[in-house]
Amino acid sequence: MTLPSWQNKNLGGRARTALWLLQVVGVGKTFKKVELREAFPDAAQIDRRLRDLRDYGWKIDTSRDDPTLTQQEQRFVAAGAEVWLPGQAKTPKHKASITAAQRNKILAADNYMCRACGIAAGETYEDTLTPAVLNVARRKVVLPDGSTDHHTVTECKRCGVGSSERTVDVTQVLAQVRALSPMERQALTTWIEADQRTLGPLEKAWGTYRSLPEHLRKAVAAELADDNE
Ligand SMILES: [Zn+2]
Repeated sequence: MTLPSWQNKNLGGRARTALWLLQVVGVGKTFKKVELREAFPDAAQIDRRLRDLRDYGWKIDTSRDDPTLTQQEQRFVAAGAEVWLPGQAKTPKHKASITAAQRNKILAADNYMCRACGIAAGETYEDTLTPAVLNVARRKVVLPDGSTDHHTVTECKRCGVGSSERTVDVTQVLAQVRALSPMERQALTTWIEADQRTLGPLEKAWGTYRSLPEHLRKAVAAELADDNE
């Protein structure tokens, strides 16, 4: 079967980038980002189209994957899905793109804990006797400039249920953080540093206060009101 030309303007940016790799660069050969941009002078975000191809099983190494490459160079290692064919472009090979080694690396980086609820592998949930099973999930992230990216995260089976399309909006997170009071920010910084939500004196006092019988809660409240005057 003959491939369509990479210069065919009826094709989308992703398909044309894939065909350009095959027809101009060639498998195993290196290319520079500037060459890609020169090939598609009118296409915005052509770098992103190139990165998107990795989701379709295309292997393109950067200097991070291959130390023999310079920072400007990338190597077209192997072709993936035929993204120029109708239907092919809709099925990113997300699962297949995570190798066992990558999976282990992600789990280790997340301390073998679910990033959503904090449960560790094999620990049982408080309300059941079911041990937690950890998975590596792919999440869509909306970056502050409005573009989207994907990242991988450790998640327990329970937190992952029905959330395959969950999107994280970085701008929203930043806005929430900015709206915090200086004290709340300080608490958040402590949690971030510990990578764990630690109970500060405030939460401990609150927890103990809530466990008191009503007349003692009133006594504590009255004491506090006196102190604040
Ligand atoms: Zn969880």
